[in-house]
Amino acid sequence: MTDIAVIGGGIAGLSAAIYACRAGRSVVIFEGNMFGGQIVYAGRVENYPGIVSIMGPELADDLRNQAFALGAHSESRHVTGIEVHRDRKIVICGDAEHEFRSIIICTGTESRKLGLKNEELLTGRGVSYCAHCDGSFFKGKTVVIAGGGNTALDDGVYLKELCAKVYIVHRRSEFRGNPVTVKRLERTPNVEFILESEITALLGESELQGVTVRNKKTGATKNIACRGLFVAVGRVPKNNIFLPYVRLDGNGYIETDDEMRTATDGIFAAGDCRRKKLRQLVTAASDGAVAATKALEYLEADLKSAVYS
Ligand SMILES: Cc1cc2nc3c(=O)[nH]c(=O)nc-3n(C[C@H](O)[C@H](O)[C@H](O)COP(=O)(O)OP(=O)(O)OC[C@H]3O[C@@H](n4cnc5c(N)ncnc54)[C@H](O)[C@@H]3O)c2cc1C
Repeated sequence: MTDIAVIGGGIAGLSAAIYACRAGRSVVIFEGNMFGGQIVYAGRVENYPGIVSIMGPELADDLRNQAFALGAHSESRHVTGIEVHRDRKIVICGDAEHEFRSIIICTGTESRKLGLKNEELLTGRGVSYCAHCDGSFFKGKTVVIAGGGNTALDDGVYLKELCAKVYIVHRRSEFRGNPVTVKRLERTPNVEFILESEITALLGESELQGVTVRNKKTGATKNIACRGLFVAVGRVPKNNIFLPYVRLDGNGYIETDDEMRTATDGIFAAGDCRRKKLRQLVTAASDGAVAATKALEYLEADLKSAVYS
């Protein structure tokens, strides 16, 4: 039986795999999308200790190569559930089941949707959740950004260089993100803020043609013709598939103690998917290392109890 299943190949999962592999344990990392996780979509990263400046995708590549060079195995599959049968932990991927002695959950978060009709249909056809991935498709065009935090503002900084016109629609009267970036965007001729407003409809049948925006104070609506909509309204966890083996807080994050233990012996959680104050690369890497160390202790104890029973 493989020692450890790591679910999620972001920085938390890859860090956990690096620690566990270096201790001689067998590890399989399940990744349903892209190894590297969220950071693949980031621009320049300048707050990871020891690395002055690096592009997100490059950091993701280095981490992935490091984990695989140390012997971690990969399963490019989306995990749909888990089961626990005494000391056996089952990872379920649709019809397939894989057996492990312990599990480290590192599923991070995913982009929050606006919840509008046709949003799913138009995703990839004008609607995007990643300006750095898709911005170049909209060179010279008009685009709208939904959101008011740092991600929305950073998207604005990136897209203003590529696009003819960038609208930023935010539901409050002030942005939540960095005031310096707000000032910078305010002074940019091809950027326009639409405040105290929300997007209420997506226009277009098979391709995005525009959005309807409603002013929350006056109730007045207007249509903005655009080819791209970048949604940057936060991120949400996706941990329900691990119930009832983990406990979730009111926002859906996994409850752990300081040693990354969940409600079930031998199941750990690390990174953005767990309840914590700061969701960043450095804390995700640290969580992954702690979770792996605790999983190693669990495997040792498990082995001893098997020998003496
Ligand atoms: C645009 C952007 C810029 C950022 N910039 C910075 C920065 O400059 N500095 C900084 O410190 N932090 C930054 N962050 C935050 C940082 O990226 C996250 O805190 C960090 O990546 C969290 O790592 P993680 O491994 O916990 O989760 P994630 O990176 O979210 O990785 C989780 C992985 O699990 C996979 N997964 C999820 N569910 C399943 C499943 N059921 N089956 C299989 N696989 C699954 C996902 O596909 C994903 O690859 C940024 C985030 C974004 C979005």
